[in-house]
Amino acid sequence: MPDLLAHHDVAQAARALLPPGHLADLLAEAPDAYAVGAQGPDFFSYAGLRPGGGVRSHPGRTVHRQHTRAALTTMLATAAAAPPGVRAGLYAYISGYATHVCLDAGAHPWIVYWTGGAPKGIDSPDALRATRRHGVLEASLDVMLAARRRPPGVSCGRSRRLLSLTPRRRRAVARLWAVVLQDVYGIPWTARQTEAALHVMALVYAQLTDRLSPLALALQAGGAALDPDGVWRSQIYPSAPHPAAVRLVAERREWRSPWRPSEARHETFAELCGRAVGESLACLETIARAASGDLSAHDAAVALGDRSMVSGGPCDDPRAPTVFAPDRDALWRGV
Ligand SMILES: [Zn+2]
Repeated sequence: MPDLLAHHDVAQAARALLPPGHLADLLAEAPDAYAVGAQGPDFFSYAGLRPGGGVRSHPGRTVHRQHTRAALTTMLATAAAAPPGVRAGLYAYISGYATHVCLDAGAHPWIVYWTGGAPKGIDSPDALRATRRHGVLEASLDVMLAARRRPPGVSCGRSRRLLSLTPRRRRAVARLWAVVLQDVYGIPWTARQTEAALHVMALVYAQLTDRLSPLALALQAGGAALDPDGVWRSQIYPSAPHPAAVRLVAERREWRSPWRPSEARHETFAELCGRAVGESLACLETIARAASGDLSAHDAAVALGDRSMVSGGPCDDPRAPTVFAPDRDALWRGV
C-alpha cells in the first residue's frame, strides 16, 4: 500500500513523545528496524509480485485482518528470548509494527468509506475501482505529507533509506515472521521469503514513490500492456495530489465506518493521524514494560489489543463493510 510516509511520520511522532528510558534506547539503537516495522505487514504484497505484473495471493491480507494480538504475543515472546545482539532490533521492529496497527486501524475505515470497498481480491469491476481509488488516495496523502518536508518531495533514494535494514536485523525479522506465520496463522513460510519480500519492497516501493524512477516511467509508458488493471499505476506517487484527496483532507465531512454504518463520524484525516500517534505512544509504553520484563508477552499483547488493521474493529468480528460514500463516483471521476 502506497502510504510509506504516513506510517513513517506517525511512528516518528510517537517516538518523539516517548520519555527517555529502556525502550527509547532500544529504538535509538535500531532506528532502521523501527522504521521498517512501521510499514507493518505491507511488505507481504511484495512477496506475491509476478514478474509480468499482477500479484499472487499472499499472507498480507490475512495478517492485516486476523490474530493481531496472537501475532504480537509471539513477536514479543520471540524478542524476549532472542540473543542480546538482535534483541534491540526485534523490539524496535515490534514497536514500529504496533504503530502500523494503530494508523491502519484508525485510518482504513475512513479510506475504505471514501474509496468504496476493501476487497480481498480483484474479482469485479467494483473491486478494481475501489482498489485503484485506495491506491490513488493513499499515494496522494503521502504526496501532501512529502510537500511539507525539507527539501519537499519524495525521491527514490530517500524512500529506499526509510525501508532499509542492516543485514543482521533483516535476518532477525525474517526469522521472526517464519515463526509468527507458522505458529499463529498456520502458514508455512520461510525466513528467505520474508528477506526477499523486504528487499523487493524497498526496491519497488522506493521507485513507485518517485514518478521519474525507471520503474515508474516504464509503468507509465507501458500503460495497459504492462499493467492491465491500472493498479500499479494508481500507486505511483503523482506530481500533485488527486483533487478528490485534496478535498477529503481539507473538508470536515460526515463519514461512517463501512463496518459500523449506524455511527456518524466527523473526524478529519489529520485528526485520525493525531489519534494514531496517541495510541502508538500508549503501545510503545506497553512494549517498554514488556522489554524491561515488567509485563509478560501475553499481558502486553492483551493491552495492545486485537484490532483488525482493515476494519479497525476486533479481529474476530465477522462483519463485512456495507456502507460507502454515496458520492464516490463523482468524487473520483476518471479513476
Ligand atoms: Zn498496512
